[in-house]
Amino acid sequence: MELQANLDAIRQRIIATCNDCGREPASVRLVAVSKLQPAAAVIEAASAGQQVFGENYVQELLAKQEEVSAPVEWHFIGALQSNKVKYLQGKVGLIHSVDRLSLAQEISRQWGKAGEVAEILIEVHLGDETSKAGVAVAEVETLVRQIAELPNLRIRGLMALPPYCENPEEVRPYFRQLRQLAQQLAALKLPGVSMDELSMGMSHDFAVAIEEGATLVRVGTAIFGARS
Ligand SMILES: *Cc1c(COP(=O)(O)O)cnc(C)c1O
Repeated sequence: MELQANLDAIRQRIIATCNDCGREPASVRLVAVSKLQPAAAVIEAASAGQQVFGENYVQELLAKQEEVSAPVEWHFIGALQSNKVKYLQGKVGLIHSVDRLSLAQEISRQWGKAGEVAEILIEVHLGDETSKAGVAVAEVETLVRQIAELPNLRIRGLMALPPYCENPEEVRPYFRQLRQLAQQLAALKLPGVSMDELSMGMSHDFAVAIEEGATLVRVGTAIFGARS
């Protein structure tokens, strides 16, 4: 019941934020981050109408998928080792966390073997400390150009995990920077690269992210409560 109420509140906030900044609410998708939550929580959220779930760990994702029969879409949002990529083929609709060429090459190879095209986002490292994941801003264009050359892949946009700030307003410049980067990359008009997705914003700052153009907000604790 609490989960239903949490989801309703977040949906309302997404709609209100979109209305306030002149965006179409349907242009923002809520990714429910279910890492370290039991499959039962996913099943409950799915029955409350939640469609997209984000997971950070390959083994956990596969185990949970076995238990969830609802027709939901899974996204991979965590740090990804190349040797685990093969397990994700056919299991995820979008990988948010591609930050190096070798990883993209392995995704290209595994999806190619299956005769499919992978949808990916490039994870960009914004700010200095918080996370070591992500390609440096100065190297994004080079990486995108290299990955765009690979077959069986489509770069759909960018993802970032900016530093945590108590006051979400302090994160705004990072969200803005990611949007501007995406605009610059879109202007290159590289084949296989569309910059229509911006994955940014979490439980405490998703409203600011939406104001700055997020199309995918990744929300965990505000939906499911604290992780065990
Ligand atoms: C855990 C996680 C989230 C969700 O964070 P909350 O603060 O619980 O909303 C979003 N994105 C990534 C990449 C995560 O690892």
